[in-house]
Amino acid sequence: LCVTHPLGPGQAVPLSPDQANYLFAVMRLGPGDRVALFNGRDGEWTAEVVEGSKRGGTLACLGLAAPQLNPPDLWLLFAPIKKERTDFIVEKAAELGCAKILPVQTEFTNAARIKQDRLQAHALEAAEQCLGTYVPEVSDLQPLQKVLKSWNPARRILWGDESLVGPAQTLAGLAPGPWAILVGPEGGFSETERHQLRALPFVTPVSLGPRILRADTAACAAITLWQSSLGD
Ligand code: SAM
Repeated sequence: LCVTHPLGPGQAVPLSPDQANYLFAVMRLGPGDRVALFNGRDGEWTAEVVEGSKRGGTLACLGLAAPQLNPPDLWLLFAPIKKERTDFIVEKAAELGCAKILPVQTEFTNAARIKQDRLQAHALEAAEQCLGTYVPEVSDLQPLQKVLKSWNPARRILWGDESLVGPAQTLAGLAPGPWAILVGPEGGFSETERHQLRALPFVTPVSLGPRILRADTAACAAITLWQSSLGD
């Protein structure tokens, strides 16, 4: 269970109504039952139920079960596509170990807005599901132009450029350090965007292989390639 409260020896952890409902009404836990807790900072803790009802409750931390495991410093910038596929991208980016997820609006992005809360909840579920202790932050939709304008060039961008379609590039030899992956929408990037991206010194265009991948596949492939080269 992911909580916002600090975790430590003997620490009492109050539960939100949603968490209490899940633990006591759905899972039917009661006093003395054990729960695994994490908050994205303090590792995974074993806690026990002190008291609880459907509307609230308290857990008490017993001991550290696993140290905090943070992902490598990799962000994902992606243009939202259809709802289910956008959910999929966020879920897989969280599972595959992205530290931050930034939906960006490009020229050919159809979505004018996203449900940030819903995507953040997917990232949380994915982290819980893969027993991670870290939940990537999902930011709200921002125009790609704005993101690039205020970009810190120390974080390089690995750009899946569909116009390079050809043999997949090996990522061996990429300099270590903070990186972000950029994947476009179903319509790809416009000529203007491609031109602009090519001119930025911190952007490295790559081919992900000889086939045009769907955006969700491209995101997973790029993260996996990066992880196999620079990640953990
Ligand atoms: N409509 C575009 C076209 O026909 O050229 C294809 C866009 S593709 C469905 C969505 C995104 O996935 C692209 O913008 C790119 O970022 C990434 N992508 C897909 N296949 C790729 C490949 N073989 N190499 C690099 N990036 C790729």
